[in-house]
Amino acid sequence: MVTLESILDGDPLVAIIDQVILEEHEREPPRHYLGASSIGEECSRKLWYRYNGHKEKFDAKTIRRFADGHRTEEVVLGWLRNCKSIELYNARNLEDGLPSFQRHTGSETDISINQIGFSSFDGKFAGHYDAIGRGFPQAPKTWHIVEVKCVNEKAFEELKKLKAKNEKTAIELWKPEYYSQVQVYMHMEKLTRSIHIVTTPGARDLISVRTDYNKTHAEAMLAKAKRIIDAKEPLERIGGPTFYKCKMCSFREICHEAPPIPRTGNTSDT
Ligand code: SF4
Repeated sequence: MVTLESILDGDPLVAIIDQVILEEHEREPPRHYLGASSIGEECSRKLWYRYNGHKEKFDAKTIRRFADGHRTEEVVLGWLRNCKSIELYNARNLEDGLPSFQRHTGSETDISINQIGFSSFDGKFAGHYDAIGRGFPQAPKTWHIVEVKCVNEKAFEELKKLKAKNEKTAIELWKPEYYSQVQVYMHMEKLTRSIHIVTTPGARDLISVRTDYNKTHAEAMLAKAKRIIDAKEPLERIGGPTFYKCKMCSFREICHEAPPIPRTGNTSDT
């Protein structure tokens, strides 16, 4: 419902649009697998809640930001696809036949769901890559996991500085979650390089950053995933209710205030 307060508080049309956005978000079913894109998240308890079907609540502005990020990723992938030197595979061109990265890398990637990705632990841990490609000027013959990220200007400038110091450590220092994500993807695809193309909103600024495979880190993330999947109860907290990260967490109520909860999502395993 659009409340009188939201109308009086600001723009009544924006209030109506935001209500639609929130309702659409509410209708989205919870994901019943642990996503590799967030396996680097510091709080395993948060990942446990997500894996067990507890949905996070976001405000409309945050959801608009996510949507902008997805649109921007598509724009950048479209540009990459049109670069003559680059061979790129993602959900859009799988109909072209057996992707040659499978022939070249021996990947057992599952393309049946019209996305390039992996699933592990009986489908309980999964991830979908933005693309896999080669022909990048930095290392033309090397297959790369390709991830596109859209961030605000401040974060973009931070990454630029880190790349100037040392490109190969930049992503890990900048956004550990993004680093863990591509480590798992490289591990699953038996690849040794990934490349992030990072943009500001609307893709007005672009930067590319390459990262090397780190076997130890990737295996640690797989072990972390297994632990979360196997846990019958919420895992340990990273702090108390006044810890700043917990104050910002959308699971804080269920985590710190509610009585112990049973698993609600993935109950098929024993
Ligand atoms: S409130 Fe804190 S401990 Fe609980 S899930 Fe969120 S970040 Fe983790």
